[in-house]
Amino acid sequence: MAAKKSTNRKTSRIAGFHKLERLARLEAVAKFAGLKAATKKHFAETGNLPSEIAERLIENVIGTMNVPIGIATNVIVDGREILVPMATEESSVVAAVCNAAKQCRNSGGVTTSNSGPLMIAQIQLIDIADPETARQKILERKSDIAGICNATDPLLVELGGGFEDIEVRVLQTAGGPMVITHLIVDTRDAMGANAVNTMAENLAPHIAKWTGGRTHLRILTNLADRRVARARALWKAKSIGGAKVRDAMMAAYHFAAADPYRATTHNKGIMNGISAVTLATGNDTRAIEAGAHAFAARSGQYSPLTRWEVTKDGDLAGVLELPLALGIVGGATRAHPTAQACLEIMDINKAEDLQSVVAAVGLLQNFAALKALATVGVQKGHMALHAQNIAMMAGAVGAEIDAIAKFLTKSGTVRQDVAEKELARRRNKIAK
Ligand code: NAD
Repeated sequence: MAAKKSTNRKTSRIAGFHKLERLARLEAVAKFAGLKAATKKHFAETGNLPSEIAERLIENVIGTMNVPIGIATNVIVDGREILVPMATEESSVVAAVCNAAKQCRNSGGVTTSNSGPLMIAQIQLIDIADPETARQKILERKSDIAGICNATDPLLVELGGGFEDIEVRVLQTAGGPMVITHLIVDTRDAMGANAVNTMAENLAPHIAKWTGGRTHLRILTNLADRRVARARALWKAKSIGGAKVRDAMMAAYHFAAADPYRATTHNKGIMNGISAVTLATGNDTRAIEAGAHAFAARSGQYSPLTRWEVTKDGDLAGVLELPLALGIVGGATRAHPTAQACLEIMDINKAEDLQSVVAAVGLLQNFAALKALATVGVQKGHMALHAQNIAMMAGAVGAEIDAIAKFLTKSGTVRQDVAEKELARRRNKIAK
């Protein structure tokens, strides 16, 4: 069948869109999409992220997207009482951390450690006949490499960071041999993506000159396995409902450890907490997620990021380990006022302390999910807020939201059609 000729005269080609003022851009979008005045007004208001900051963070800004920040209470990390801000649109995530944290307070909360703030940048060398010789030539230049990298970012060096080491690997690929140089850099309190990418770009021409090859990609790896955070905690059997609950949770964990389908969802639950604190502090959620999932698959089988075991006293011990390339300077962390405010709530002045809190939240989140799944199921906890969402989707406003949500929960059918019917019935009754 011949393709139908488009009769749509709208065009997404808007020359100079990026040069327009934000509200002029919004006007252009409104015209394109036929937005109502109320929708335009909605986008025009940027809430507590001032327009001039939003426009410096990304391109072509027309508005902002607010996500709720909830506070996880009851959390103890390395002996410190801490309130943790979590930015997420998903119900039950914050409550789950509060719950899990409460149940391990009597054993001291969560204990953490980390491997130091080391990032890796990769430099790809191609068109090379003698990759093994090239590898050695690069390794011989370690002190030159240190000098070039450190000259790129003297501030980082002044702060105690900078070049740490190199690793050089020969890869056999479908496109022939490649020599991959890993620059290992201490990025202190920054995530370090820009810092190490600049170093890799500055070093690349030297590698080409020393080896006679051609350097190609120069970019960090998000598999930040030199920047690993660890968290562990103990839940006393008596605090979690006894041996039966503990064993049910262990059976749930063993399922995840044996099956990538289950492990993916197990890890998604962990990331519910990790991504929420990552977002609340203006960090790069995609970088953290990519690193976490690659780390989970490092053995060749996608596996849980946590491990669970029963102690000799019959209690439940959980550990979590994953790469967490988090910063408290750089990127949006300093520029975004809400990110700064969230760091202030946690009184965090070092990236490593943020790593600790994020790892702790990941472990707590996993405890809560395993317990819910292994006992009552997750839907029970989700239902109260889910019912409110459904009520709003059905058109309920103000006091109607709670009333409809209550009706849905009580009736045991949390569905939009049921909510719509009940809403219509109530409104009719009031109108009469
Ligand atoms: P950045 O370059 O904005 O800031 C880092 C710099 O801040 C350092 O190089 C240093 O000179 C300075 N600095 C000041 N005080 C410091 C301190 N106490 N510790 C460390 N450095 C200090 O930020 P960045 O962390 O290099 O880059 C983060 C941004 O890069 C994020 O927005 C991320 O989304 C983005 N990014 C990510 C990727 C990726 O993940 N693949 C790729 C490119 C860019």
